[in-house]
Amino acid sequence: MLLDTYGRVATDLRVSLTDRCNLRCTYCMPEEGLRWLAKPELLTDDEIVRLVTIAVTGLGVTEVRFTGGEPLLRPGLVGIVQRCAALRPRPSISLTTNGIGLARTADALRAAGLDRVNVSLDTLRPEVFHRLTRRNRHHDVIAGLDAARAAGLAPVKINSVLMRGVNDDEAPDLLAWALENRYELRFIEQMPLDAQHGWQREDMVTAEEILRSLGERFALTPERSGERGSAPAERWLVDGGPARVGVIASVTRPFCRACDRTRLTADGQVRNCLFAREESDLRTALREGASDEEMVRLWQAAMWGKKAGSGLDDPSFLQPQRPMSAIGG
Ligand code: SAM
Ligand code: SF4
Repeated sequence: MLLDTYGRVATDLRVSLTDRCNLRCTYCMPEEGLRWLAKPELLTDDEIVRLVTIAVTGLGVTEVRFTGGEPLLRPGLVGIVQRCAALRPRPSISLTTNGIGLARTADALRAAGLDRVNVSLDTLRPEVFHRLTRRNRHHDVIAGLDAARAAGLAPVKINSVLMRGVNDDEAPDLLAWALENRYELRFIEQMPLDAQHGWQREDMVTAEEILRSLGERFALTPERSGERGSAPAERWLVDGGPARVGVIASVTRPFCRACDRTRLTADGQVRNCLFAREESDLRTALREGASDEEMVRLWQAAMWGKKAGSGLDDPSFLQPQRPMSAIGG
């Protein structure tokens, strides 16, 4: 298994399939985009499937989430999902996407074995969407969400980031709309992972503010008291339930002690934490013909070095070199 020195076991693998994206969300990427990885640097579909196979059959991974950049831009996505769904024990397979193109691909992804999808949508207002993402694609995301629900992907979750002065007034409207459409909404605190290094703690809309704003329109009760396990989202029942809303307070209420994540970048580096400043190269060993046992040992060594926490509250905190779009959220 993938154990670290603090006794945590990673069972949830996040695989970034590309660092490219068709949006330019202000909290993630600069307007001009980034220097994308060149094709030879990217893992091939076969290499990704081999590494997922090693993780699932040799390292105890039970959940695989594909992300990016924008994973729907990866031409081989459906095939990768299909091959991962054929693994035994079968992992649960999910996708985090901005939803653009999902209207076309949701049925094929479902048929290939995708279980669940998280679609990122920060606003119900097309003009605010344009301001936040620098692209006029709001309608495509809404169509993608509709298609995901129609394809039977369940639950369909929505991830929203609130930005002060842009969409921080929208939390109750987003929740009302999500409830009406049977989507499960989760708010994510903005993290210092933007490529521009522009994050400021004072500007961040905190979980507390989000809950206060939701509380003006809805009665929220904690879904369960005590430990939240490894789930990053703390969840609240809305107006007595069964509908729920989640808040992922990575900055103000970090969940590092229960973290069960391991991450693989599109160029084959293992990251043991979203905020890690070191990575472990699996691609070189893979391409030099390492055996499965050797790959297992490399991956285990990468996780063994995982730090206790993100270090966000440490005055010496330094943002990782790789931005969120190249790590995979
Ligand atoms: N492009 C896909 C998408 O947007 O869903 C997948 C990759 S994106 C990096 C994954 C998630 O990270 C999205 O929900 C996005 O809103 C979130 N994200 C990106 N930058 C962030 C930041 N600085 N703080 C918090 N969440 C962020
Ligand atoms: Fe693209 Fe997702 Fe980053 Fe937005 S958050 S720029 S959709 S990778």
